[in-house]
Formats: sequence, C-alpha cells, structure tokens
Amino acid sequence: MKRIVRAPAKLNLGLDAPFVHPDGAIEWRMVMTSIGLSDHIQIETTDRHDNIRILSDSSFLPNDRRNLAYQAAHLFLNKVGIQTGLKISIKKNIPVAAGLGGGSSDAAAVLRALNEMFDAGLSFAELAQIGIQVDSDVPYCVYSRTALVSGRGEIVTPLQKLPKMWFVLAKPNISVSTPKILRQVATTQVSHPQIDELLAGIENSDYDRIVSNIGNSLEEITTASHPQIETLKSRLVEYGADGSQMSGSGPTVYGICRTESRAHRVYNSISGFCNEVYIAQPECDTNPVF
Ligand code: ATP
Repeated sequence: MKRIVRAPAKLNLGLDAPFVHPDGAIEWRMVMTSIGLSDHIQIETTDRHDNIRILSDSSFLPNDRRNLAYQAAHLFLNKVGIQTGLKISIKKNIPVAAGLGGGSSDAAAVLRALNEMFDAGLSFAELAQIGIQVDSDVPYCVYSRTALVSGRGEIVTPLQKLPKMWFVLAKPNISVSTPKILRQVATTQVSHPQIDELLAGIENSDYDRIVSNIGNSLEEITTASHPQIETLKSRLVEYGADGSQMSGSGPTVYGICRTESRAHRVYNSISGFCNEVYIAQPECDTNPVF
C-alpha cells in the first residue's frame, strides 16, 4: 500500500496564553489556519514488521524516533494493533523550526493517512487524542482548517472558512528555540490579544475586523531577543500589507492582504530584505495527492 498526502503549514492568527498550569503546561487560546505551503509525505507499507523508516530531503530533520512523523506512526500502529513496517518519505517545503508547525503537521498527516490506508475508522477527535501525545499542535493539524484551539492544544473547535485573503510569509535567518520561549511565558507579563473579537470577525466574514484583531502573546518574548522580527513586520505593512504578525513562537512573520495583486507587490518588495519569502492562501486541501 502507498499513499502521498499533503501536510500544510499553520499560521496563528491569534495566540493567547491566558495562564500556565502548575505542571508548567501552557493553557492556550489560539485561532489557527492552515495554508497552501505544505510538505508532501509518502507512506508505504513494508514487510519489515515494526520497522518505521523515515527518509527526508532535509538535512535539518532527525530521521529516527525523534521525528514527529515517526512518533505519530508508532503511536497509531500500537493503538489500532497493526503489525506492519512503514517507509515514510518527507519532502520538506515548510521551513523547519519556523513557527509554522511543520513537524506537527507531518505527524498529523501520517495519522490521517494511516487511518485511511488501514480503514481504521478513527474519528478526527480520536486521531487528535493520539496526536496530543506527540506535540500540542498535532490535534489542530489533524483538522488543518481554521479553528479555535484551547486547553493544552487538545480542544479543537473548527470555525467557518476565512474570507478571501493572501498571506506573505517572511522567515528571517535566525533560529528560535520554542521550548526556551515557552519557558518565559510563566515569568513574563505578556499582552493578551482580543481572541473574541477575532472570532467575531471570522464569524461575520469581516476581513477588516479579522486583520485589526490578529495578535500573538509570544511576540514580545521572541522580539526581545530578535528585534529584526519587529522590523520585518513593519516593512510588510509599509509595503502594503493590511496587518502583520509573527506566527507561533517565531521567527516567521506574515503580512495579510485582501487581494492577490497586493500580495505579489508585498512579496516582491520584502524579497529584497529576506531570502525566505512565501505567498499562500488559507484553507488548503489536505486530501491525498495520489
Ligand atoms: P514548534 O513551535 O511546535 O516547535 P515549529 O513550527 O517552530 O514547531 P518545526 O518545523 O515543527 O518547528 O520543528 C521543531 C523541531 O521539531 C525541530 O527541532 C525539528 O528538528 C523537530 N522535528 C521532528 N520531526 C520533524 C518533522 N517531521 N518536521 C520538522 N521538524 C521536525
């Protein structure tokens, strides 16, 4: 059996961390969407029982059990009691450790694909329960559509489609450690974006209300050590985006545009300052490619 699936990148339109649990886990309230920029994952069954082999075209990825796709496959096979070998080949298009959830999306894509390949009949909620054991973003990525995410990442409430918009993503050439940023949430006075206003904007398909209520509580923490993020955000708006923000714990920032032509103008201008720039639309297709 063989399947090729898409694993789309996610963007945080809203990210609030209202409090930190006594065990150190963060309570989230996030509005996420998935975009056209995606990894392609080929999954093949092999007769080497219980052997999961990871291959990828990226030198940044671990190809052993540290790979989130490996962990998802291992948990899935245990859960449904299937004994098979797997070869998972990852074509990496999403920048790694960029705040775009690439690893979590790969893991979620593996869960969705295996569920279909073996006709296991698990619901998205059940796949999300497996996914939360891998990473807090995996439950969202199982759904990979615009959604409100709360709890420790395990509560995913799908929302209606976003109105037409384009995102211009710019990834500065810096590395950000997500665990390091998250550890600072408990000890930093962060601002809290208006998630309810953002939700109202989405519910009413109101582009302007969405754009004026994007916000990310982690932005102040990451920007304190990487001020170039703030500069890039300002440039995106200067070049014509209606709003801009950092995704996840960064360092990728994105600008939002209402029209494709405006997005291309912003893309061309920001490309002069940043060599990793992407243009994408929300609500991409997660159906199998083949
Ligand atoms: P997060 O904010 O959840 O840490 P991110 O979007 O910033 O995620 P990812 O691209 O998911 O970043 O990578 C985070 C870490 O996960 C990296 O250190 C990477 O080595 C590791 N990793 C494991 N498996 C994968 C995978 N399949 N794709 C990308 N990264 C992976």
